[in-house]
Order: sequence, then structure tokens, then C-alpha cells
Amino acid sequence: MLKHLSTIEVNNLNIHINLSIGVYKLNEKDKDINKILDKAYMARSKIKGLYDNNYYIFDETLENKLMEDQKIESCMEDALKNNEFKVVYQPKTFTKSEKVIGAEALVRWYKDDEIIAPYKFIPLFEKNKFIIKLDLYIFEQVCKDISNWKEKYNFIPIISINLSKAHFEDENFIDEYVKITDKYNINRSQIDLEITESVTADENIDIIKVLNKIKEEGFIISIDDFGTGYSSLSMLQNMPIDIIKIDKVFVDKANLMSDKNIINYIMILAKRIGVETIVEGVETKEQADFVKKLGCDIIQGYYYSKPISREDFEEYFNKNK
Ligand code: C2E
Ligand code: CA
Ligand code: CA
Repeated sequence: MLKHLSTIEVNNLNIHINLSIGVYKLNEKDKDINKILDKAYMARSKIKGLYDNNYYIFDETLENKLMEDQKIESCMEDALKNNEFKVVYQPKTFTKSEKVIGAEALVRWYKDDEIIAPYKFIPLFEKNKFIIKLDLYIFEQVCKDISNWKEKYNFIPIISINLSKAHFEDENFIDEYVKITDKYNINRSQIDLEITESVTADENIDIIKVLNKIKEEGFIISIDDFGTGYSSLSMLQNMPIDIIKIDKVFVDKANLMSDKNIINYIMILAKRIGVETIVEGVETKEQADFVKKLGCDIIQGYYYSKPISREDFEEYFNKNK
């Protein structure tokens, strides 16, 4: 197949094709076509986008991953009921004043004596849509915290919350979020919803319409992981967004001249379309100084603080607000 399909001729032009093939070998037990396809897709996902490898055969490592996923799926509902998912907060700091403006809420799974990091379960939950329930649960926990903070200390931090792409399949998903903020009497301008850049570039979503609705309800909107997807700043210009979150890959390589220019470029254009910038993943003073010099408004990263418990964040905010 690879040999025969590597080039095709169109209008006298030779077009080179880069195939990605996933192979799964059937056995007698295989009855469900969807499960069979899933395994072939899973094999393909191992090599998709690579130029030096065109096929992958479903193997033991993938079988193990599948079993691990099934184990997680069998206990996720109970985990939610038993409050095993907890929120941690990572402070965000204003570069000009060095004061804390708020935090990003991030989920952790306390399973038995172990803390499971999101990368182990979020991709699976996005696939099986459980993320919709989990995101709403996390959102409600955050609203409870915000309401307590107001009562206890008169704190008004801005809290960012991640919204998975899965929500956008339902145009009216934001109604549930509005209901929760009403229940806890939260001012929605205190809540920043983080949407990954890939959502804004998805042709199946009427993104402007959905974002307008979110904005009309009074939420702040951030574009997360900016620079890793396919959207452009000119596309963002037509969207009612408030903040661009520049992905940490750009500070990881801050010493490279070319990447310095990329952050610089994003910053200049962000200012031009009137949105704030936040750089995430800032780990060292050198990186912090660097992005400050380029005019970044807000910094989030280990340099200031790792994600911390609710209690630790209260203390941190009290000290640095
Ligand atoms: P994200 O939204 O890009 O969140 C930032 C991630 O970068 C967090 O990882 C955070 O701990 C990490 N980080 C922050 N500063 C630094 C730094 O200076 N250095 C390094 N190396 N890492 C830093 P975390 O908590 O493991 O979350 C990973 C991803 O899981 C998040 O990426 C987000 O996409 C997803 N996620 C987490 N919580 C939720 C949630 O409640 N709902 C949804 N839908 N996704 C979530
Ligand atoms: Ca985020
Ligand atoms: Ca991010």
C-alpha cells in the first residue's frame, strides 16, 4: 500500500502523499466493529504526523493502555461521587505590581493514597465525554471557594477555570455554568473561562456565536495554550476574548533568539487587538525578567508558585494581594 500510494498524479503534477496506517490483527473474540476500529485508530495515533514512520501495529503497550483506560472508566463515576477530585490553585501575578491577581483552578485525583495528575485521565475523559461532568463539578467547587473567601476575608480573586472542548458540542452549555454562579451568588466577572486555542480553529463550531453568549453572561474569556494550534491573531481579532495565554513552550526555549521573537511578536499584536497577555510555565527569574521586558501583563508559573491547596492559596493571596 505504501509503495503504491506514495505518489499520485494530478494535472500532470506528482503529489507526494504521507500515509499513516494503524494495523490491528483480528482474532475470533473480536465482534464489535467500533472496538476493532478504535484499536486500529489507537495504533495509528502512535505515528500520525511522523514522516519517517508510516504504520504502527497494535501491540502489548497499547493493549495495556486500553486496559488502564478501562480501569479508570470503571471507577470515574464513583470517584466523582466520593469527592476524590480536588481543586488546586496556581497563583497568577501582575508583572507591574508583583501582586497576585488570582489563580488557575486545576484538578487533581486523590485515588487511594495516590495523587493522579490530569494528563493521565483528562484525554480519556475528553474522549468519553466524562469531562463535561467533571468540569462542572470543578466549577461548582471553585464557586463554593469564591463564595467562602468573600465571606471570610472579603477576597475578590479572579479564578480561571478550564473548559474542555467537549462542551462546545452543545451551543447552550454555558447555561449550566450561569446557574451555578447564580446559586452561589458569584459575580461572573470574577471568573475567567480558559478555552484552548484548538477550539477557536474548529470549523464545526460556531465559535463566535458561543463566545458572544459567554461574554454576554459576563464571564472573562481566555485563549489557552496560545501558539500551539492553528488559529491566528487575525482570527482572534473578531472574537470577544479578553486574554491570550501564551504557552510554556515559548519560555522553555527563551534563550533561543527566534523564540524570543515569537513571544515578542504575539505580545505586540495582542496589544494591537486590545487583549491582555499572560505567559505560563515561567520557572526562573531569567524567564520572568525576559517576558516582563517584552510587556507581558501577567505571569503564571513555578517561579512564583506551583499549584497549591485551597488553604495555602488563601495564605498566599493574603500575603501578596
Ligand atoms: P493547562 O491548562 O495548560 O494548565 C497548566 C499546566 O502547566 C498545569 O499542569 C500546571 O501545573 C503546569 N505548570 C504551571 N506552571 C508551570 C511551570 O512553571 N513549569 C511546568 N513545567 N509546568 C507548569 P496540570 O495541573 O498537570 O494540568 C495539565 C493540563 O490538564 C492542563 O493544562 C489542562 O489542559 C488540563 N486540566 C487540568 N485541570 C483541568 C480541569 O479541571 N478541566 C479540564 N478540562 N482540563 C484540566
Ligand atoms: Ca489552562
Ligand atoms: Ca495552558
